[in-house]
Order: sequence, then C-alpha cells, then structure tokens
Amino acid sequence: MSGTEDQAREALVGFAKSLFARGFTVGSSGNISVRLKDGFLVTPTNSCFGDLHAEDISKLGADGTHVSGRQPSKEWAMHKAMLDTRPNDNAVVHLHSTYATALSCLDGLDENDCIPPLTPYFIMRVGRAKLLPYFRPGSSEIAAALSALNGQYTGVLLANHGPVVCGASLADAVYAAEEMEEASKIAMLTNRLAVRSLSAEQIDDLIATFGKPFPLKR
Ligand code: ZN
Repeated sequence: MSGTEDQAREALVGFAKSLFARGFTVGSSGNISVRLKDGFLVTPTNSCFGDLHAEDISKLGADGTHVSGRQPSKEWAMHKAMLDTRPNDNAVVHLHSTYATALSCLDGLDENDCIPPLTPYFIMRVGRAKLLPYFRPGSSEIAAALSALNGQYTGVLLANHGPVVCGASLADAVYAAEEMEEASKIAMLTNRLAVRSLSAEQIDDLIATFGKPFPLKR
C-alpha cells in the first residue's frame, strides 16, 4: 500500500463521506477497510459513513488484534478474510446498498454468477459475482465462507445482506462497489423482462481488451 497511514485514514474518511452523500449507504451500515504495511484500518462499529473522523478509525494488526482507535466494525473478520485471500488488493468496501441488497434477496440466482452480464462496466470492474448464503452479520461463518473462496472473486454478494467488493486501491474498491450497485440496479429494473445479455464473445472481447477481473470464462 503506497502512502502513509495518515493518508489512508484521510482517504477512507473522504470516500465514506462521498458514498454516504450519494445514498450508497444509510445510518450506521456499511464498512470499509484499507491494508497497511503492519495491519489494516477498518471503520469503527456503529459509525456513520457521513460522520467519520480519521482518529476514530480502528487499526488492527495483520492477525486481527485491535491496536488503536475505536472498536472495529463487528464485520472486521470479513474484511480480514478478503484481504488475506486477495494479496494484490488493498481495500474492501461492504455496503447494504439498496439494489444489490434487493437482488441478494431474490430466489433462484446463479450462485456462481449472481449479477447478470448486462453492461460492460460491470464486466470490467467486477467480472462476475459470487453469491454466499445468508449468515448472521458479524458471524465467523461469513469470514470462513469468504476464505473458502480462495480469493477467486472481486465481488461477493451476501444473501439478504449486501455486497463485499475489493480493489487494488481504495478508489478501485469504491468504484467496483459502485459498479456492483449500478449493475444490480439494472438487473432489478430489467428483472423478468426479455433482456439481451452480453454474449460470451462480447465478454471475451472486454477481458482481452481491458484485462482482469477473474474468473474470466463464463
Ligand atoms: Zn453488513
């Protein structure tokens, strides 16, 4: 992770405020983590994205030990699982954003490809999203289920809960989370309509041109 811890704290506060101002999260829902050289930062429990202060952000050691700041989000182990299994990524964003959460409540989703490939930007930012079963928020089962994915997915949707998305930088993770919400919104708006999905050839062309995310083949 480039930059100092202070810069990471300031960036986290700025992105959280922006997400809150634009309605990607409400109340005290959602949490963000950023990898540091000696651990990671995570938003505190019961904090609001619109009113975060850099000094309040929790710092945890690489093993999850609380080092400083307020008590971490109860979902901190979920962030650790994502960071541990995605060594090239340095930030994780978890939201209860409306459309992704609505989609996560639908029956009959493809658990290995739960957001349909309708638009190019979702393919370019997230690729395909994994649906995990419902677990109680903050339970160790969420972290265990994420760890078991072995870092295969940039974006994961927790059933009846919301998305978890990572990125190489905090900005990348935020943009991917926003794209996951927009793709979910389009999926919900077109649900049960006769949609034309991107074809396998169109998806292969996007991956060949823009690279990543994976798994690549549908
Ligand atoms: Zn949550």
